[in-house]
Amino acid sequence: MRKNIVAGNWKMNKTYQDAQALVSEIDNMVKDEVTNDNVEVIVTPPFPFLQSISKLIQGNPRMHLAAQDVSAHESGAYTGEVSAAMLKSVGVEYVLVGHSERRQYHHEDADLLLKKMRAALKEGIKPIFCCGEPLEVREAEDHFQYVNQQLRETVAHLSNEEFDQIVIAYEPIWAIGTGRTASSQQAQEMHASIREELSRIFDAEAAYNKTILYGGSANPGNAKELFAQPDVDGGLIGGASLKSRDFTDIIKSF
Ligand code: PEP
Repeated sequence: MRKNIVAGNWKMNKTYQDAQALVSEIDNMVKDEVTNDNVEVIVTPPFPFLQSISKLIQGNPRMHLAAQDVSAHESGAYTGEVSAAMLKSVGVEYVLVGHSERRQYHHEDADLLLKKMRAALKEGIKPIFCCGEPLEVREAEDHFQYVNQQLRETVAHLSNEEFDQIVIAYEPIWAIGTGRTASSQQAQEMHASIREELSRIFDAEAAYNKTILYGGSANPGNAKELFAQPDVDGGLIGGASLKSRDFTDIIKSF
């Protein structure tokens, strides 16, 4: 059985105090209300809060910690960068790689994304690799080819062992933060296409076992239908992960 994951990406939101309060609420709600043993919950706070949040969620086996970024470099003169070893040392288990906001605002290309994944994997941190097409590509009906290409230029270069450690998140850019969710049918057909491409690159079993998350304006109102699709194994949640009630209700949508 594939692992289901709901990951909250907090982006550049919350102060230290707000972050502590939010994660305490989520932690308590997950303890009290989430009964599905196949669901893993991930929170992805900004760098300065990782260590304190790691301690806060330590006693809850369902809760896991991700970072929003990682340096491609191991250590040294890279001002402002945070290495995989640093993340590991404060309890980080996952890291986002390839989020469309980093691709767009920080010009992260395939070569850099592959280096970041390898840097994380070397430290035992699992990359959550994000892919997804912009609106003009969807409108030109080139979206399957576009996402396959994103996989071919990055994930396809990983070894079988490295591939086993990653999570994929399909995030159509036109749905991120716009309130315009992909329909469950659009999500399902893209997830199935990704799985098919992964089976061509790796093998059918590895592709079948891969957790593929959907991201893009998911909320408590649409999560149930999205998660009911056979190839949708959970969600990467932006806006709705900043509210404990909404985030927990999404987790309970399986
Ligand atoms: C995201 O940025 O990964 C995301 C899915 O955001 P939102 O849920 O706000 O669309």
